[in-house]
Amino acid sequence: MISVKGLTKRFGANTVLDGIDLDIRSGERVAIIGPSGTGKSTLLRSLNFLEKPDEGMITIGPVTVDARRVRAAEELALRRQTSFVFQNYALFANMTARDNIAEGLITVRGWEKARAHARAEEILATIGLADKAQSYPAALSGGQQQRVGIGRAMAAEAEIMLIDEPTSALDPEWVDEVLQLLKRVADARQTMLIVTHEMQFARDIADRILFMDGGKIVEQGAPDAMFTDPKDPRTRAFLRKVL
Ligand code: ATP
Ligand code: MG
Repeated sequence: MISVKGLTKRFGANTVLDGIDLDIRSGERVAIIGPSGTGKSTLLRSLNFLEKPDEGMITIGPVTVDARRVRAAEELALRRQTSFVFQNYALFANMTARDNIAEGLITVRGWEKARAHARAEEILATIGLADKAQSYPAALSGGQQQRVGIGRAMAAEAEIMLIDEPTSALDPEWVDEVLQLLKRVADARQTMLIVTHEMQFARDIADRILFMDGGKIVEQGAPDAMFTDPKDPRTRAFLRKVL
């Protein structure tokens, strides 16, 4: 279970997150939509301290931190409750697909190499990349690289998977295979918070849609209600443009 209270982030005079409150149940799949520059990525990155928020309380699973008096060890504990899927995959270029997935199991969870490699190979099989275990990222298509990125996040078995525009860097031909894999992750009831421009996908997989604008959650609700009967004029204007 995830609970966020009063999450605030400023870059200089620019308040990018303006007191965000958000609760996410275990197994809930939440999609964030909204215009460019409204703080969607910053919200995801603040939840695991890739970006340090200025204020707010964050609880993820058993870990609670107060952004104003957080210590490095607490940041790490919080980050370990999360996994992250990046827009640009963020794979280690000098590691094979298998090792990209195994790395966190070895360094973060302290697994023996052999065990981590075996688990990585299992995951590669479930994501349809068993034959690419020894391939380096440069030898994989964009879609395959992002599937490895998702496989790495799956391996972490974290309380929540944070996913930031997983298909927006992909050539159109690779988008479907990535969305299909994420659909399977969602169907397995992995708790997830996903920023996406793929509205139909959000509608298919999410239990709840958040519309963000100007550093705030302006409106939220079940996908059908949000997409067919948005209440706030800003939500309406945004959906008119993207649907
Ligand atoms: P997009 O849909 O384009 O990805 P977003 O909703 O994810 O947009 P953010 O990336 O969270 O938006 O950015 C929100 C605001 O914070 C923007 O005005 C951006 O310029 C600013 N910002 C983000 N990161 C930094 C940074 N490291 N330093 C200064 N300003 C930043
Ligand atoms: Mg973004």
